[in-house]
Amino acid sequence: MVKEKLYGKTLNELIAVTKRVSLPGFAAKQIADWLYRKETDTIDEMTNLSKKMRDTLSVDYEIGLTAPSGVAESSDGTKKYLYKVLNNKYIETAYIPDDDRATICISSQSGCKMGCIFCMTGKQGFQGNLSSNEILNQFRSLPELRKLTNMVYMGMGEPLDNINEVLKSLEILTSEWGYGWSPTRITVSTVGLKTNIKEFLEKSRCHLAVSLHSPFDEERRKLMPIQRTNTVKEILDIIRNFDFNSQRRVSFEYILFEGVNDTPAHIKELARILNGIKCRINIIRFHHIPGSEFKSPDPTAAIRFKEALNKKGILTTIRASRGEDIGAACGLLSTIEQNKSLAL
Ligand code: SF4
Repeated sequence: MVKEKLYGKTLNELIAVTKRVSLPGFAAKQIADWLYRKETDTIDEMTNLSKKMRDTLSVDYEIGLTAPSGVAESSDGTKKYLYKVLNNKYIETAYIPDDDRATICISSQSGCKMGCIFCMTGKQGFQGNLSSNEILNQFRSLPELRKLTNMVYMGMGEPLDNINEVLKSLEILTSEWGYGWSPTRITVSTVGLKTNIKEFLEKSRCHLAVSLHSPFDEERRKLMPIQRTNTVKEILDIIRNFDFNSQRRVSFEYILFEGVNDTPAHIKELARILNGIKCRINIIRFHHIPGSEFKSPDPTAAIRFKEALNKKGILTTIRASRGEDIGAACGLLSTIEQNKSLAL
């Protein structure tokens, strides 16, 4: 019999579990404490529950953790872990150490529906949503768990296309009965699903990052099909009308492609559309993927683009390329692994 996983359940869901197996209500908070604070691996270690209660719980439930099934390590210290999910599919999780920070980049879906043409995960198509268990397991089962200072939902998949499980995972990360992380240490990235952005902004206090990549409708539509139904203008209107407190940050991700979105006209239009929004642009030099005609601009061109935006009053930074020798582009490693399993 397949047992249900306790790890990844919110406090309310754990209360429902205790009711289902006739345990006293207070046991839910104790279970949460074991799962998220004491990081227990087995129900039997939950020693402030009586032996009888543990036995009752163990009939239908297990903790439900999964160790990574592979890792690639870059010379710059970045590591990419592979986790097996959803019947032999693989997802990627990146661990990125950087001076006194250590960031985990987690996946929210296996594959992706959004079809951005520059993305390897997009080329995989969509295989399924990850459960809150599978999202948080990437964090909990990371060997460097204790070193982590920040978390970004920027791995495989579109987080807001799996909003219920993503919100659950954020609740567990930021609640006092969960991991108790500050929401300001967590950033959720999206291509811009307008309805779900609103829900995310209302129900969570974590930072928002929107993938922009072009300020021009037609060009963005070619890069990111989502622009057909969720335009940048609509996304910016939602952001403009939301009351961001001083702690909460909105940023825009901008992958720079040589000769495509790196002209003075792009700088001018970015300054125009972002006028009045307190934000930051993060420039990412394109990471090559097999079969793509896009080229990565040279580092000096990226610096010039950044400086021009800064001069226009938009705080702009360049995200350092990490893990280039292990396939920095998200989705590359899992595609190779999936193809290997198909060949067996
Ligand atoms: S860039 Fe993000 S949203 Fe677009 S296809 Fe890739 S994973 Fe999906």
